[in-house]
Amino acid sequence: MTVQAPTSTFRPAQRIGAIGVSEILKIGAVAQRLKREGRPVIVLGAGEPDFDTPDHAKDAAVRAIRAGQTKYTILDGTVELKAAIAEKFRRENDLVYAADEITAGAGAKQVIHNAFMASLSPGDEVILAAPYWTSYADMVRIADGTPVDVPCREENGFRLDAADLERAITPKTRWLLLNSPSNPTGAAYSAAQLRPILDVLKRHPHVWLMADDIYEHLIYDGMPFVTAAALEPSLKSRTLTVNGVSKAYAMTGWRVGYGGGPRELIAAMAVVQSQSTTNPSSVSQAAAIAALTGPQDVLIERRAAFQRRRDIVVDALNAIDGVTCRLPEGAFYTYASCAGLIGRRTPDGTLIDSDAAFCRFLLEGHDVAVVPGSCFGLAPYFRLSYATSEQNLREAVMRIAKACRELS
Ligand code: PMP
Repeated sequence: MTVQAPTSTFRPAQRIGAIGVSEILKIGAVAQRLKREGRPVIVLGAGEPDFDTPDHAKDAAVRAIRAGQTKYTILDGTVELKAAIAEKFRRENDLVYAADEITAGAGAKQVIHNAFMASLSPGDEVILAAPYWTSYADMVRIADGTPVDVPCREENGFRLDAADLERAITPKTRWLLLNSPSNPTGAAYSAAQLRPILDVLKRHPHVWLMADDIYEHLIYDGMPFVTAAALEPSLKSRTLTVNGVSKAYAMTGWRVGYGGGPRELIAAMAVVQSQSTTNPSSVSQAAAIAALTGPQDVLIERRAAFQRRRDIVVDALNAIDGVTCRLPEGAFYTYASCAGLIGRRTPDGTLIDSDAAFCRFLLEGHDVAVVPGSCFGLAPYFRLSYATSEQNLREAVMRIAKACRELS
């Protein structure tokens, strides 16, 4: 037997040891392969609006390039961008932040990453309301923290229960991360629903709050959006309010996110960013200023389109035997239960023993890609992104219904 020479001496860092490639990416890879084979796959996995960036934002970017705004900027956002963000917080959220209480990074994701890197030491805990955006737990781990999941039951509208939160708090808890409206469930908190959670935090002054408001503008049926630091001003001095232009203005590729919070935290976050990416793209910052300060009617039009799509999907899913779907208040996802299908078999005899098995059957047998709830920490469910055309959605839900009829 010959001993093979090692082809690489690469050794991954300990801190990424527990972090795998996400199941979502794996499903995406299978969907892409099937597409290449010529199958008419409808992918309902996207975490981004299908609409285009508004023209006035694109034009501002072109003008910025022509005007030579192509150099490094102030590390965590230009003076003009910070002013636009401050004005946005004041206008839309009733929150007043000074320039040194505002930070901008390459997407809300970088802002969250900066905050964890700036505040977590080994052993520090971050409470996550499950199911949650898959990245949260790994972002905590990369910063040497420990994610602590608190399950949010469907009976409670997939919202965090205040008593469950209180039980999860330990002396090591540094943050509660709350995302409303939520990826993946679409659940949003009204003021009355948020209040008991903030009351718990008031009793535990060592716990900070990260409010991920990225889906703020995608909230339906006239429900008012509420953010924690505005509802409970006494918590503002330990809250980071995170937002960005990705979802509201269909600007995912531009990579601009921002946060408002206490200046000590904001300064520490700038240190992290200074040694990783430096400033977000100068051109993207110009586009973000235009999006935040320009006409806002696009938000209303798109919200109406998303609400129509949501209703189409929720009605169709609830008509399927074995599937039930709660009406989400916001974002562009439905989180439907497939509990009624578990234990059934496909025509070739394969047992549907999990939401992942169901999603595999949908993809491989019926050309629809959705994401199993197990990826987000609450099973058996599947997440469907309705950030695509009504025509695509109608076809997709027909395929899902047909797939379910085949199970026995
Ligand atoms: N938070 C949540 C809940 C998200 O779903 C996403 C994007 N999928 C982000 C933050 C990050 O958005 P971005 O970095 O594009 O601003």
